[in-house]
Amino acid sequence: MNKSLSVLGSTGSIGIQTLEVARKLNLKITSLCVHSSIKQLEDQVREFRPERAVVFDESKAKELKIALADTPTKVLCGMDGVLEAACDDADLFVNAVVGMVGLEPTLAAINAKKDIAFANKETLVAGGALVMDAAKKNSVTLYPVDSEHSAIFQCLQAAPPDKKFKKILLTASGGPFFGKSREELQNVTVEQALKHPNWAMGAKITIDSATMMNKGLEIIEAAWLFDISPDNIEVVVHRESIIHSMVEFEDNSVLAQLGVPDMRIPIQYAITYPERYESLVPEIDWKTLSQMTFYPPDEETFLCLSACKNAMKRGWLIPAVANGANEAANLMFRQGKIRFLDIGEVVTAAVEHFPDQKAKSLSDVLNIDKAAREFVYEYFN
Ligand code: NDP
Ligand code: MG
Repeated sequence: MNKSLSVLGSTGSIGIQTLEVARKLNLKITSLCVHSSIKQLEDQVREFRPERAVVFDESKAKELKIALADTPTKVLCGMDGVLEAACDDADLFVNAVVGMVGLEPTLAAINAKKDIAFANKETLVAGGALVMDAAKKNSVTLYPVDSEHSAIFQCLQAAPPDKKFKKILLTASGGPFFGKSREELQNVTVEQALKHPNWAMGAKITIDSATMMNKGLEIIEAAWLFDISPDNIEVVVHRESIIHSMVEFEDNSVLAQLGVPDMRIPIQYAITYPERYESLVPEIDWKTLSQMTFYPPDEETFLCLSACKNAMKRGWLIPAVANGANEAANLMFRQGKIRFLDIGEVVTAAVEHFPDQKAKSLSDVLNIDKAAREFVYEYFN
C-alpha cells in the first residue's frame, strides 16, 4: 500500500502493533516519537529509516543522537520535536501516545490538515470540543483505532443516507474484576489489576479496564466521534470480547462488528480505510467459540463509569477533570501509593468538586487538567 505514517508512541502497545501493520503493508514511516525508550527507538529507526526520531525526554536526546549518528535520521526532542513530527508530510498521523499530553500534537496535526488514526482517547476526553471543532474547520478525519470505536465506525458504514441511528451498544469485557463486590476489591494488588482476561495492553489502560474508567472514557470518546448524547450509549458487558460494539438503528435492527480481540484489525482499518487488506490477525474459530455472554455493568462497584457519564453530561471542562484526576490516581495506584477503590472514589470526588466553567481553550484545558491532578494529590495527603 502506498501510504506514509508518522507515529507518536511507537514503542507502546499500539505503536508496536502499528509498526507490525506497517511492515506487513510495506508502508513508509516518516517520523517516530517516544517518551524515553531510546534503545527500542534506535532499533525501530534502523528498520524503518524515518526522516525524524523524537524523544520527548530531553535528557535522552544526546544519547540518541550518538546512537543514530551513522544514520540519516534527524534526532529531535521535547514537545517541539513531537509537534514537528505531528506536522510532517506523512499521509496519516498515528496518535498512539498515552495520556492527554497528546492534545497539543493532535491540534497541531489537525491544523496542518493531517488525517489522524486515533488511539489516544484521553486527548479526546480532555479536549473533545477543541479537537472536533478544529477537525471540522480543517476538513480532517479522525479514524478511530480504539476497537469499540472502530466497530461503531464500521457498523455506521451501513447507516441510512441521513446518517441517523438510535443508539450505540458499547461492549466491555468487564476486566479482571467482573462480578466482584467492593468488599472483595478492597485489597486487590497492582499485579492482579494488571491481568486483563482478553487484551494485552499498556499498563495505564489495563488499570483503566480494571476500574472500568476505560469504558467511561470510551463513552465520552464515542459521544465526540459519533456526535451522540451519552444517554444514547449503553454499556454491555460481553466477557468474550468478540463483538467489539454495536449500533442500533431506528427500526431496532442492530449491527455488530466481530473479530478476535487483537488491536491489529482496528489499527489496520484506520490506516487502510475504506480498503481492506489481508491481516496478521487470525480468523475467529467458530468451532471453539462456544458461547457469547452479555451482562449489565455494575456502576455501584465501578464508580468511574457514572463519574464519566456525569462529567460528559455537564460538558465543558468537566470531562477534562475526570480524565486528569484519573491519570493521576491511576499512576499513584501503580506506584503503590493508593488502593484500587481509591481511584473511583477520587475521580467521583473531583467531578463533584469542580464547578462548571464555560471555557474550552487549550490553556483552559491544560489548567483544569493540572488542577484536577492537584486535587488528587491533596485528597490523599
Ligand atoms: P503504552 O503505555 O504501551 O505506550 C505509550 C507510548 O507513548 C510509548 O511509546 C511511550 O514512549 C509514548 N509516550 C508516552 N508519553 C510520551 C510523550 N510525552 N511524548 C512522546 N511519546 C510518549 O500505551 P498503549 O499503547 O497501551 O496506549 C496508547 C493509547 O492508546 C492510550 O491512549 C490508550 O488508552 C489507547 N488504547 C490502547 C489500546 C491497547 O490495546 N493498548 C486499546 C485501545 C486504546 P516510551 O516507551 O518511551 O515510554
Ligand atoms: Mg477500547
